[in-house]
Amino acid sequence: MATPKELYYEKRGQIMVKNLLSRHFEAYYCATKEEAVKKALELIPEGSSIGWGGTLTCTQLGLMDALHAGNYNCLDRDQCATPEEREKLQREIFFADYFITGANGLSLDGQMVNIDGTGNRVAPIVYGPQNVLVVAGMNKVTDSLEDAVRRARTVAAPMNKQRFPIQTPCEVTGTCADCKSEGCICNQMLITRHCRPAGRIKFILVGEDLGM
Ligand code: SF4
Repeated sequence: MATPKELYYEKRGQIMVKNLLSRHFEAYYCATKEEAVKKALELIPEGSSIGWGGTLTCTQLGLMDALHAGNYNCLDRDQCATPEEREKLQREIFFADYFITGANGLSLDGQMVNIDGTGNRVAPIVYGPQNVLVVAGMNKVTDSLEDAVRRARTVAAPMNKQRFPIQTPCEVTGTCADCKSEGCICNQMLITRHCRPAGRIKFILVGEDLGM
């Protein structure tokens, strides 16, 4: 029997899908991680070139492992031997068939918020790769766009910052101080409110808590 949380996510997931479709995104709701990976592999044709930014959600799903194991050309920056090679690859991703990313915040009316340090994650969402696949746990969904921005800034970013060694106020306190530190990871904030060309950005919403 479904738990109250699963039922709650399912109901909000259906609202999200409807609102994303109204904005010309493609959108799917998957109740479990396993269903989400299956859906992602269905959406991405074999032989595609695929890049991604840092996405804990997709790592937790095992999606990258599945792509490496399949018939895909994975543009995986973590397999680069030098910083120069990594930089070159991140530029090559602009020409990829697919770019995969998570989301820092989603509003129930179908908008997405992402914050980025260098821009290598938000730039390909805006333009470049033929298709963008966003995979996000329902824990990312908030009631309003303002709440989604707040979530991205005060939850996702300070939590994400714990992974990096350059000190910022949030790394020390766990709370955003709206800093201007050299190592600030909140340099670009992107709101994606509509999709053109239609269907370029595809969402898989997962009925579980994933990512940061
Ligand atoms: S303290 Fe700085 S790096 Fe940390 S979340 Fe706030 S703006 Fe971002």
